[in-house]
Amino acid sequence: MKVETLVLGMVETNCYLVSENGSLLIIDPASSGRRLVDRINRDYEGKLDGILLTHGHFDHIGAVDHLVKEYGCPVYGCRDDEKLFTDAAVNSLMGMNATVKSPITWVKGNSMKVGSIIVKIYYTPGHSPGSVMYEIGGILFSGDTIFHESVGRTDLYGGSFSQLKQSLDVLNSLPYDMVICPGHGESTTVGHELRYNPFL
Ligand SMILES: [Zn+2]
Repeated sequence: MKVETLVLGMVETNCYLVSENGSLLIIDPASSGRRLVDRINRDYEGKLDGILLTHGHFDHIGAVDHLVKEYGCPVYGCRDDEKLFTDAAVNSLMGMNATVKSPITWVKGNSMKVGSIIVKIYYTPGHSPGSVMYEIGGILFSGDTIFHESVGRTDLYGGSFSQLKQSLDVLNSLPYDMVICPGHGESTTVGHELRYNPFL
């Protein structure tokens, strides 16, 4: 499995390109649709199997419609963020916003297969009602639920600090050396966060 990280948009969101056996997934295509299309066409044979969204904030979804128009691929997200995905008034921050007009397949259950890639799903409300984390090939893509030695803010629409605290419990059940790729900033590991993250 190969993971490429692109830092995109006004608030430096991590967008991940995850590929294995000829399948490609994009996690949180934040913005810069044209740049992503160029990259996919150049390095991934012009084929995108699916888009995974960790939550509905504008800085994680800006290029979704551009990619769907180009590749006709499915988009996955959690229904509890439906309002954030679709209502610009709710997900606007500092005058910036974005919405997803393409249909979203709501994730359910604990895992799914997209292309040939198995994706595990963790439901971790707190940063937003429908925040999820995805585990692929032993790597955890945590969105804004957990960062290197920090966690996502809970003062935006539908956020809840007590829910976030509860959601973070899942880390206790994951391997210590599991790599975490967050929605912003540098990557980390489960063990490092259990030891140094002041919120855990
Ligand atoms: Zn966010």
